[in-house]
Amino acid sequence: MENKKYTIKCPECGADVEVSRPAIINVQNDPEYKTKVLSGELFNEKCPKCGQGLQVVSRITYHDMEKRLMIYFRPVTSQEELKTFDYEAIRSAIEDNFKAPNYAIRVVTTVNELMEKIKIAEFGLNDGVIEIAKFVYFDIFTKQFDGVGVINIYYERRDDKDALIFFCDDGRTRSIMIDPEVYASIEKRFSAVVNAIYTSRVCMVGRDWALRMIRAYSKLDSEKQESSPEVKPEIKLLDSES
Ligand SMILES: [Zn+2]
Repeated sequence: MENKKYTIKCPECGADVEVSRPAIINVQNDPEYKTKVLSGELFNEKCPKCGQGLQVVSRITYHDMEKRLMIYFRPVTSQEELKTFDYEAIRSAIEDNFKAPNYAIRVVTTVNELMEKIKIAEFGLNDGVIEIAKFVYFDIFTKQFDGVGVINIYYERRDDKDALIFFCDDGRTRSIMIDPEVYASIEKRFSAVVNAIYTSRVCMVGRDWALRMIRAYSKLDSEKQESSPEVKPEIKLLDSES
């Protein structure tokens, strides 16, 4: 396995800490690294001088040949970096270098997104459906929990159920079950686009993508002057933690 060396500065004592991290993870060759990504262990380090916990966020290409999943983790850690993040350049470089057909090829910018994509693939789900489901549940969540702001939503498997974890601005997380019927109805309604992202396309499938798809579909509906059958999800709270 190809490792890259990085030097990071300990924010506590100022020591230079040398760390070594894989640039490419091939799940079939290095299965233990999948576990390390999912547990977060891969991103944690301790300063050898003062013991301070350090976060190591480095570029990783994550390849699961069996699941035909390729994730390019290109970390963005600040708003400044986000401004200069050139997705188009990354996309075209990947298109030039990776030509295997029928792959889900994703670009993600945070550790949480990387973990989420791996989990979604692990349970055989479609990440496009999950991203659209977040909008569907966000709407009813804000009605039910009036006044509670939502900071982030991530997919998680809880008690053998597919769930969305809402990170809220009151400091709590709330786990909500994804109703299989709601999942199926999204999959059916958006079948063309959620299938297309699995056939050798480089995509950033996240909030912006889902929003574009929802808008495009509702525009189509209004042009055809018909409304698509509404999915009527309910909030089934699995747990709520502070
Ligand atoms: Zn230190």
